[in-house]
Amino acid sequence: MTPIVIAIDGTSASGKSTNAKLISKALGFTYVDTGAMFRTLAWFCLKEQIDIHNPKTVTNACRKWKTTLDCVDGHVRLLVAGYYPSKEIRTAETSAAVPYIAAIPKVREWMKDIQRSCTRFGNLVMEGRDIGSAIFPETNYKYYLDANLAERERRRQAEGVHEDLAQRDHRDSQRATAPLMIPLGAIVINNSGLSAEETSIQIIAHIKKTLPQNSQ
Ligand code: C5P
Repeated sequence: MTPIVIAIDGTSASGKSTNAKLISKALGFTYVDTGAMFRTLAWFCLKEQIDIHNPKTVTNACRKWKTTLDCVDGHVRLLVAGYYPSKEIRTAETSAAVPYIAAIPKVREWMKDIQRSCTRFGNLVMEGRDIGSAIFPETNYKYYLDANLAERERRRQAEGVHEDLAQRDHRDSQRATAPLMIPLGAIVINNSGLSAEETSIQIIAHIKKTLPQNSQ
């Protein structure tokens, strides 16, 4: 049977990760954080002093770096030379660098292959910016999350991260290749004032209404 993919897209700090994790747990699906994959490449470029503003050098780095995918406790991870930089990819420096490498068409092509290959881990809940529009446009399960900017900034600050979310969203939505957008057919949820539990309950109820009986 073809694996089912639940696509969760949306703006930065709109609750994609928390919701995608809650949904994957409730359904017993594998969780994939594609933002972490782009962050890992950005971190690698910064570490190796590769110019993130030069698409050629970043594309070359992409070709050479030795990556593997694994799945631990139902979460897929992209490892570089056997290492998963869980802390390093969350710094403000890495966050600011990601949109530059994420705008490079070859990088996105490369990521698309990796992300589509994740179905080897079974049914997926995959979160990102272009999952419903470019990576799995064929899925029937597309959700787009958003919340007002002040609330999203509060959420990030509560995590101890201070960054310009509006600027990151602007870069992500203005790039030419696979920009941040509401995918065709997606259900849009503005979760300002809602807890992650309240948001995920809505999404899970909607998914369960349409999932084939034998995958629940
Ligand atoms: O979701 P997260 O905040 O970790 O994503 C970090 C960055 O990675 C985004 O701001 C965006 O530039 C890039 N990204 C992307 N496409 C995805 C996921 C993330 O371009 N599917």
